[in-house]
Amino acid sequence: MTSGRLFVAGSLATAILLTLCMQNVAWNIQANKAPRAVDPGSTTRAPSDAIVLFDGKNLDEWVGRKGAASWTVEDGIMTVAPGQGDMYTKRKFGDIQLHMEWRTPAATKRKGESKGNSGIKFHSAYEIQVLDNYKNQSNPKGQAGSVYKQHIPLVNACRPPGEWQTYDIIFRAPYYDKDGKRVKMGTFTVFHNGILVQDKVNILGRTNSNKPVAPDYKQPFFLQDHGSLVSYRNIWVRELKRAPLD
Ligand code: MG
Repeated sequence: MTSGRLFVAGSLATAILLTLCMQNVAWNIQANKAPRAVDPGSTTRAPSDAIVLFDGKNLDEWVGRKGAASWTVEDGIMTVAPGQGDMYTKRKFGDIQLHMEWRTPAATKRKGESKGNSGIKFHSAYEIQVLDNYKNQSNPKGQAGSVYKQHIPLVNACRPPGEWQTYDIIFRAPYYDKDGKRVKMGTFTVFHNGILVQDKVNILGRTNSNKPVAPDYKQPFFLQDHGSLVSYRNIWVRELKRAPLD
């Protein structure tokens, strides 16, 4: 075969292959529903499908236990106002992905579980601990990244106090039957500063007592006033499709 004929045959084979590939791609797109597009945002901007709970401007999405939210907002940061109480979301949530940044105070002589303590209580009942555990030992089941009193974090990923840290948390709410009996445990998956610290662990119940938890699928969560000047910024939530019961 001459080189000219070889070239034509090669081109023909390539064209046939390309056509077959394109048909395959078209078939795959039809067979597998394409996911919706989401602008993922950036380190300072929430994804396009997120509910922004704090963008540095105000506490419009929050309420105190007994009235208006009264934590301080300054320079794009909200900070616990010790003694003013926990701060609840006005919205109620079921399964969610939560992103937030938090910072514990650098100037403190406190130690152990008193050093830079706050937390996020999902369904007002299940706490992911916020604590300064950078070279600060405390009960492992209550340190930063723990499911309080239930699950020790896989590693201690704390940055020094005074530096901003991130939490990315996937909360899967428990299931209750019509009589208010829990029929499936919820779960937590937690990344601390991008590091996996809780890997889909079961939520055994309320994290600080045995009091029953309201069975509602959607409930507020709150940020804890534990008397420390802990700050937060860039808080957003993505609502997730509920995990199946089975
Ligand atoms: Mg706490």
